[in-house]
Amino acid sequence: MAEGRLLLEIVTPYGLVFSDDVDEVTATGSEGEFGILPGHVPFVTTLNIGMLVCRSGSDTKNFFVSWGYAEVGPDKIQVLADSAERSRDIDVQRAREAMKRAEERLKKAEEIDFRRAETALERAVTRIQVSEAKKTK
Ligand code: ATP
Repeated sequence: MAEGRLLLEIVTPYGLVFSDDVDEVTATGSEGEFGILPGHVPFVTTLNIGMLVCRSGSDTKNFFVSWGYAEVGPDKIQVLADSAERSRDIDVQRAREAMKRAEERLKKAEEIDFRRAETALERAVTRIQVSEAKKTK
């Protein structure tokens, strides 16, 4: 690892999504958004459905991350998530369809697992937001 940088690894059950040295990471923890620079004191936090942003110099990359946790060390952040995609890899049409399905289910809430439909909707909406946050990233 290069001096003064952070190795960011994003891993899901589907495989390794990202592994590279970065200068800064911000993510959505259960207590809200947090930012990590190299040399941070070690800690572990759970992650909500949300956006993770990493910066390398003037280049930023956005990711959708769904649940999991982040283990932070002075020179490494490991993110283990249920699912994660880089913004440019998000299939927006698929997310729109997932959003529609979840909305339809929520209309007949008495017949369904409400929490499951609600989190499916949250994933779909957040994917759309992440894909639109900064085009080309
Ligand atoms: P869907 O109902 O469309 O499958 P989901 O929210 O249930 O959406 P997940 O369980 O979060 O999907 O993810 C399953 C796999 O599909 C993961 O590998 C995830 O990265 C991928 N995935 C899901 N939705 C998208 C999307 N819109 N674009 C790209 N990859 C996606």
